[in-house]
Amino acid sequence: MELVDRLLKEEIDDLTPRLARSRAHQQEAQRRLPNGVTCDWDLLPNGPVIIDHGSGSRIFDIDGNEYVDFHNGYGVMIMGHANPKIVAAITERASRGTHFGLSGTDALVCADNLAERYGLPVWRFSNSGTEATQDAVHIMRQTTGRQKIIKIEGAYHGRNDSLMVSVSPEPETAGPRENPTPHASDGGLPDGVVGLVVPVPFNDLGAVQRAFADNPGQIAGMIMEPCMANAGLVPPEPGYLKGIKDLCHRNGALLTFDEVKVGITLSWGGGTRAFGITPDLVCLAKAIGAGLPCGAIGGTEEAMSVLLGEDLEQAGTFNGNPLTMAAMRANLTEVLTPEAYGRFDEIAEILGGIGEVIDSYRLPANLRTMGAKGSVEWSATPVRDHRDLWEIDGRLPDLAWVWQANRGVFEPPWNKWESWTVSLAHSDEDVQRYVDNFASLAEALTA
Ligand code: PMP
Repeated sequence: MELVDRLLKEEIDDLTPRLARSRAHQQEAQRRLPNGVTCDWDLLPNGPVIIDHGSGSRIFDIDGNEYVDFHNGYGVMIMGHANPKIVAAITERASRGTHFGLSGTDALVCADNLAERYGLPVWRFSNSGTEATQDAVHIMRQTTGRQKIIKIEGAYHGRNDSLMVSVSPEPETAGPRENPTPHASDGGLPDGVVGLVVPVPFNDLGAVQRAFADNPGQIAGMIMEPCMANAGLVPPEPGYLKGIKDLCHRNGALLTFDEVKVGITLSWGGGTRAFGITPDLVCLAKAIGAGLPCGAIGGTEEAMSVLLGEDLEQAGTFNGNPLTMAAMRANLTEVLTPEAYGRFDEIAEILGGIGEVIDSYRLPANLRTMGAKGSVEWSATPVRDHRDLWEIDGRLPDLAWVWQANRGVFEPPWNKWESWTVSLAHSDEDVQRYVDNFASLAEALTA
C-alpha cells in the first residue's frame, strides 16, 4: 500500500492544478450554497469538478478539461449527452408550454412502453427515485395494513425517511451479518423510523425467512434492488429473487424492486427482465427521463389497485410534467429501442479487456459488466453483499478514479460503491481509453 499511497499523491498533485477554476468557483459559491455545491455528493475526493456542458460521450468542465463520461450523471445518460432526439422532443414541448398541473397524452405512451418492458400493467409518474420509493412504501403499507419494511443492508433507496436505515452501516455497530442491527443513516430522521425497518444481507434467503418469522404479521413488504448497484454491481445468486418473491407472498407481504439505478440500464426490461422475476411493484427514475427529473412506479393490477380508492393519494405538482414526459417518450420509444441494447453488449466486450489485464497482472480485482453498467471490484473474491466491501481498502479505488480522471475518463466518484455507466454515444475508442488506462494503472501497481 506504500506504492498506492505514493501513486495516489502523485496523481492528486497532477489533477489539482487542472481543476483550479472549479475550486475557485466552489469557494465563491460557498457564500450562498453550503460547501459551494448543489448536492453533497459533488464533493469529490479533491474538490468538485464544475461542469460546463456535455455532448455525446463527453463532458467538459469549466477548466476546459474534456472527459469520456463513465459517470453519466449516476447512470442516467445512457442515451448520451444532448442526444438530438431528446433535444428535439424537449424543444418542441417547451415551445408549447412546460407545466399545467393537468394530465397530458405522452404519459400513456410512456406507461404503455414501460408496461411492455416490465410486464407490469399499471404506472404512475413522479419526479425522483426518492418519490418512487416513497410511493412504494406507502402502497405496501396501505395495502397490507402493516408497518414494517424489510430492506437490504447497505442499500440506498433515496432520501426517503422510511428507508434511510442501515444504508451505510459501520462495522463497529452493525451487529451480526445474518441479523443486522438497524441504524439511522442520516441526521434529521424521527426516532420511530429505525424500528420499522428490518435490514437483511443481500443474497441471503435464510435472513429474509428469519425476518418474517421474527415479525409475524407485521411486514408490509420488502424493497430491494434486484442487482445491487450501490455496492459496485452485485448480481443476485441463482434462485435468490424467486425465493424472496415466494417468501413475501407466503407471508402476505408485497415485493418491490427498486430499479431506480438498474431500470432500463441492465437490459431493455431492467433487472426484472434480466433475472426473470416480476415483483409486485417496480420503482424507476434516472435513465427513463433522459436527464430530466423523473420517477415512476409500476405494478400489478392488484398492487396498484389501492390507488383507485380514496385512502392513499399518489400526487404531486410536477407529476407527469409535460417536459419530462416528452423527453421520456422520445427516450423510451425512439432512442432506447430493443435494438439499441446490442450496442451495450458490444461495449461490454471491449471492456472485457479489463478482465484480461486483471488476469495477466494478477490483480486482486474482479470485473463486472451488465448492460450499460459495470464495475471493478478491488477484491480477490467476488463481492456478495454490502459487508464484503468493508474488506476493500478505499485507497485502491480512489487511485483508480484519479488515474482515469488524469487520463481523460470521468468515472463515478466514490467508486468502491459506485458502478460506471456507458452510453449509446460511446465510440469503441472511448471505451478502449478506459481499458488502456486500466492497463497502465496495472503496470504502475506491479512495477
Ligand atoms: N434508489 C436507488 C437504488 C438509487 O440509487 C437512488 C439514487 N442514487 C435512489 C433510489 C434515489 O433516487 P433520486 O436521487 O432520484 O431521488
